[in-house]
Amino acid sequence: MPQPQRQAGAAMSVRRFFGKNGLLSGWHPNYEYREGQLAMAEAVEKALAENKHLIVEAGTGTGKTLAYLVPAILSGKRVVVSTGTKNLQEQLFFKDIPFLAQHLSDDTAQNAPDAARPGDVRRAGRSEFGPLRVCYMKGRSNYACRQKIYDAEKEPVLDGLEEVADFEVIRQWEQTTGTGDRAEIKTLPEKSSAWAKLDARSDLCTGQKCQQFERCFITLMHQRAAESDIIIVNHHLFFADLTVKKDGGGIIPEYGAVIFDEAHEVEDVAGQYFGVSISSYQFEELARDISALARRKDFGSQELDRTLITLGDKATILLSLFGASEGRTGFRAQAAFLEKNDQAYRDVLYALELVALQLELLKAPPDEAIPMVARARDMARRLNFWMESNDKSYVYWIERRGRGIFLQATPIDVAGLLDENLFDAIDSVVLTSATLAVSGEFEYTKQRLGVRNARTLVVPSHFDYGRQALLYVPQTLPDPRSPAFVAAAADEIVELLTLSRGRAFVLFTSYQQMRLIYDRVSLEVPFQTLMQGTGPRSALLEEFRSTPNAVLFATSSFWQGVDVPGEQLSCVIIDKLPFAVPSDPVVEARIAAIRDEGGDPFHSYQVPQAAIALKQGFGRLIRSRSDRGVLALLDNRITRTRYGQIFFDSLPPYRFTTRRPEVENFFKHV
Ligand code: SF4
Repeated sequence: MPQPQRQAGAAMSVRRFFGKNGLLSGWHPNYEYREGQLAMAEAVEKALAENKHLIVEAGTGTGKTLAYLVPAILSGKRVVVSTGTKNLQEQLFFKDIPFLAQHLSDDTAQNAPDAARPGDVRRAGRSEFGPLRVCYMKGRSNYACRQKIYDAEKEPVLDGLEEVADFEVIRQWEQTTGTGDRAEIKTLPEKSSAWAKLDARSDLCTGQKCQQFERCFITLMHQRAAESDIIIVNHHLFFADLTVKKDGGGIIPEYGAVIFDEAHEVEDVAGQYFGVSISSYQFEELARDISALARRKDFGSQELDRTLITLGDKATILLSLFGASEGRTGFRAQAAFLEKNDQAYRDVLYALELVALQLELLKAPPDEAIPMVARARDMARRLNFWMESNDKSYVYWIERRGRGIFLQATPIDVAGLLDENLFDAIDSVVLTSATLAVSGEFEYTKQRLGVRNARTLVVPSHFDYGRQALLYVPQTLPDPRSPAFVAAAADEIVELLTLSRGRAFVLFTSYQQMRLIYDRVSLEVPFQTLMQGTGPRSALLEEFRSTPNAVLFATSSFWQGVDVPGEQLSCVIIDKLPFAVPSDPVVEARIAAIRDEGGDPFHSYQVPQAAIALKQGFGRLIRSRSDRGVLALLDNRITRTRYGQIFFDSLPPYRFTTRRPEVENFFKHV
């Protein structure tokens, strides 16, 4: 697909936007000139113009979003912007782009309503660099399938009053929405089972054979993308696209550059998409979808029913033979397993093929049967890879979550894959985040992601950390690995929460530790205490924001992407240095691979990874120039060990103390 030709904003330079008395200063009532923002914008501008890769660490408060959006707009290229979360994706599209669009336009009054319209921002560019169009793309399950909605009106696919009520809302909305993106229906529950039956996942999509194809929300999304200059995606969609492009397919149209925001998440997400997985749920869903389709299209038979029951039974038998306990377990014994259980494995492959054949041999197979056939064969291919490929560049592991079993194969090292499919294939890749550098260097990020040639830049934060934040590391606590730690840490947390008057996040590296300490602390403090896992993440955060003096106990998912500016969050306590669990199969395999190559995994992988994670966790506290607060780390290995210095060198220049009275004194002035 050809890229749109826009005139690059050669006459425009980012300096005209971000410089002292630049355009932004006139547009934004609270705009402050930020040297770092200008430096980043110029570096991005240069990288895009010269087809270079760039890594930028831009601390919180540098205004990094505009610092990459403006040069992307001015570049004249089609640029993909990829974010770590859908939240940031929406913030860019509904807040930052309309802001720029409104001001960049020669005809502000005429274009402002368009800029705010979901779907795209039309003619938002100044004439001197041509019209600008922006769109966002999400994964298919975020969009409604019109055909499924129409079918559901005629056929009984909904169960219970709740599904019927949700369906009514979705049906009404489908008639007016321009995008079909479920994020528009604010009242729809996160885990709506009605939505799961009506979304546009490819599993049941008949593509061009569908009567709704021309007006399908997925078709419209692709059309908007094909006409857009800036395409905002998330890392999941980006890597889903990259893996299918590898095989000759593609979701995102051709582009000249990609900018990753929240780039510290790239390795994990890439690992997921370059990996292979198959789960017990997929067997259940396949059987359920085929049964439902057979009922709807009237091709059911006893023979098909028997095959689907056999598939379910055989899959259950095979998966139960792994006997994995809750959590993630490495699995290296495929050959021995097959020797003992070859028949159980072959039975599943046979049942999958039988399902595919029975659908293919139907007298008049409905169009919807075609994706089912492909799905059954793809499952067989993935199971076969997991059991037999023996590819040493993958780590094979099993995850048991509740009643679900997942067989996973993850590339041990995504660097080579990214080098080939991303950095070699795309002219300019910009990676940015508040946490990419370790001790001011990018060696770790470069190595993990396979970036060979990249310019680098560290943009210091605009905040005055020495004045705004105090880092406290108590010296009397036992080593966090000792059994005495829980009681001592709980006492210290009670003291700290008393001084901070609640208003704190207490962040843990494990669920078990969180629960143990929560049980002790929650009884001792007079504040509302909230714990991760007792409600949806967004509801917990909302409660924290709206409850005076609340305290939230949480683990890794709250270490990033959480923004609570102001006094409501005045203290962040972290139990220990966030080293990745060495017994986790993926971490274990990565450590072993570095050791096998003669490297030192502790210093080249584990410490830098933990330093970046700690910077993320502490980054929750200071979100604006007026925030103040205390960061407490209950793990004094940071002051006792030589490697501790790497953590200090990687954190912003907080004021530092080991004495609790200084904390008390600090809070007297907060
Ligand atoms: S083309 Fe596919 S996703 Fe779109 S409406 Fe038809 S079946 Fe649904």
